Amino acid sequence: QRAAWDGGKRVLLAAPRGYCAGVDRAVIAVEKALDLYGAPVYVRKEIVHNKHVVKTLQARGAVFVDETDAVPEGEHLVFSAHGVSPAVRAAAEARSLQTIDATCPLVTKVHKEAVRFAKQDAEILLIGHTGHEEVEGTAGEAPEHITIVDNPDVADRIEVKDPDNLVWLSQTTLSVDETMETVRRLRQRFPNLQDPPSEDICYATSNRQVAIKKIAPEADLVIVVGSANSSNSVRLAEVALDAGARAAHRVDNAGEIDDAWFAGVTTVGLTSGASVPEVLVDEVLAHLRERGYGAVEEVTTAMEDLQFALPTDLRRDLKAAN
Ligand code: SF4
Repeated sequence: QRAAWDGGKRVLLAAPRGYCAGVDRAVIAVEKALDLYGAPVYVRKEIVHNKHVVKTLQARGAVFVDETDAVPEGEHLVFSAHGVSPAVRAAAEARSLQTIDATCPLVTKVHKEAVRFAKQDAEILLIGHTGHEEVEGTAGEAPEHITIVDNPDVADRIEVKDPDNLVWLSQTTLSVDETMETVRRLRQRFPNLQDPPSEDICYATSNRQVAIKKIAPEADLVIVVGSANSSNSVRLAEVALDAGARAAHRVDNAGEIDDAWFAGVTTVGLTSGASVPEVLVDEVLAHLRERGYGAVEEVTTAMEDLQFALPTDLRRDLKAAN
């Protein structure tokens, strides 16, 4: 039930927003690894796509590397929440690295689907962004079976070998609506296209999109807190515009908000991506309060209580240390 609005300046705060279970687990895994093994702990790629999180962990002794060959032999290496291909695992093993796998279990689920369909010799259309780490990891499970479908337009021109042995899978952090549009266009050409066994776009991505969609039609301006390389954050700004927000901007933090955006704005919608710590949202709320947007109404469209256990190797070492 929503309270009556007096027509004054206000903030509609989306819920759910911010950290998902996979990000929470990955960040805690690095923190615990630092406590347990001491610095440096190496992390392949950004543990999650958020500048603030990366900087905070760097200050504690995490060293972010692009590839396994940048890690001295025998050291601890954490794989990020986005997952890695079997080739990366093999490279880490060849260097005798002690790996901690912080791949989100919901990404691992998509990897397993890819392996399973590849075993059935199916052709897999992986809907996702070329070059995104998650897509590289998933595609690396069965490169000879997987073709990446980057956007709905690609669906109109892609060629397949056998339209009767075809399945689509997807990146976990896409726009739900755009993905459905891609699938619709694929199915027009390939009516026997199989759906994934379960939804690949994760609960956190869809829940955050549903929440901002509810707010967007009432918002003169939507602010999405999240980093530029965070797929689900960038999607939230697009989804807000599609759902009727007059304007939408993604910012890493309150410092990036431009006062010019507030001209004629009564209602500000606010949300944050799945890799964004709440402290950054609090700072934006304080920034908005200083500009007269002190009335905050939280608009809740779902409750989330999912939690994932820490990576197995880390749990084993933590137990042994206690
Ligand atoms: Fe996992 Fe979804 Fe979070 Fe990605 S956004 S880490 S898939 S829960």
